[in-house]
Amino acid sequence: MSKDAPRSMAVMFQMMSQMIETEKDYLSELDGAIGDGDHGITMSIGFLAINAELAKLDLGRASLSDVMSTAASGFLNAVGASTGPLYATGFRHAAKALVDRPALDLPTCADMIQAISTGIRERGKGQRGDKTMLDVWLPAADAAANAAAENKAVGAFWHDVVISAENGAAATRSMIATKGRAARVRERSLGHIDPGAASAALLIRVMADALQ
Ligand SMILES: [Mg+2]
Repeated sequence: MSKDAPRSMAVMFQMMSQMIETEKDYLSELDGAIGDGDHGITMSIGFLAINAELAKLDLGRASLSDVMSTAASGFLNAVGASTGPLYATGFRHAAKALVDRPALDLPTCADMIQAISTGIRERGKGQRGDKTMLDVWLPAADAAANAAAENKAVGAFWHDVVISAENGAAATRSMIATKGRAARVRERSLGHIDPGAASAALLIRVMADALQ
């Protein structure tokens, strides 16, 4: 299992990229309602870049941490603004959390999700209720930590994480944006799901599918 973990994580990033290609227009439409309409394109560029970088990695020798730090630099090099530094910092924090972690057991998965969300929060200086991707990543991280502490089975662990993420994304519909481009439209953002929250929930669903 542990020898295959870096490969599983690389496959996870491939699945994320495929999902983003499928949902690209939907994500850009969400962004068009409250932002500049490029979120689908941005995420597509970022995840294609991640996979281009991962393709150069020797997965027989790479660690989980190597896969994650390669994803971080691939994303940042391709997406310099907005979402780029947020996910790059999240993935970089996760790479640190994954040092000397050979397997994707549930405590490791919980720490990885926690590290991604902490990285995004520190970089974006945001919190829950801002109508951003943090409204998905922070509750997902809490759910993962709780499920791991309760020693839940694999299926129950990921179920909790995915439900928290999806509830978090849905909750952004009734929030007023205070961060990023959507903050310029403030009240007009009410009634629209935040595109970054929507893509975060989709990514977490793919993570669950890939790692369980
Ligand atoms: Mg945008």
